[in-house]
Amino acid sequence: MKFLCIPCDHVMEFVERQLPGDGTLAAVFACGKCQREMALLTNPMETQFVSSMGIKIGGREVPTQPMEVTRTSLEGGSDAAFRPSPSAGSSPGAVEWSPDAVERLQRVPSFVRGMVKRIYTDYAREREIRVLTPEVMDTARSELGLEGM
Ligand SMILES: [Zn+2]
Repeated sequence: MKFLCIPCDHVMEFVERQLPGDGTLAAVFACGKCQREMALLTNPMETQFVSSMGIKIGGREVPTQPMEVTRTSLEGGSDAAFRPSPSAGSSPGAVEWSPDAVERLQRVPSFVRGMVKRIYTDYAREREIRVLTPEVMDTARSELGLEGM
């Protein structure tokens, strides 16, 4: 499994992998050209799927098509995601993060934080939850099978 940095058309290099022991898997890749980083995050079911496909994260397998997850994490992968966007508060789908929830998000490893934030934000938006609190995060986590995030 390989990821391509789309702007550079450069194969991203495997940097590190974490197996927290709860069945989830997190792997970070970086572009050698622009230094942009992205992370792959799987829940336990997906980790099994990836294993059963014989895909080695960071291994030398044949490149696959760039996955949607690549684009997702590229969009939300930096701390800039925490700054309110110009439309925050005015757009109907805007989700606000409570100070408690932001604090909790800061404890997530930085290389997956953008992606985790996006997962929770999408979850809240789909359910028309306006303020994301730690309680919402708990519910989302068990509903989405993201234990450990
Ligand atoms: Zn790049």
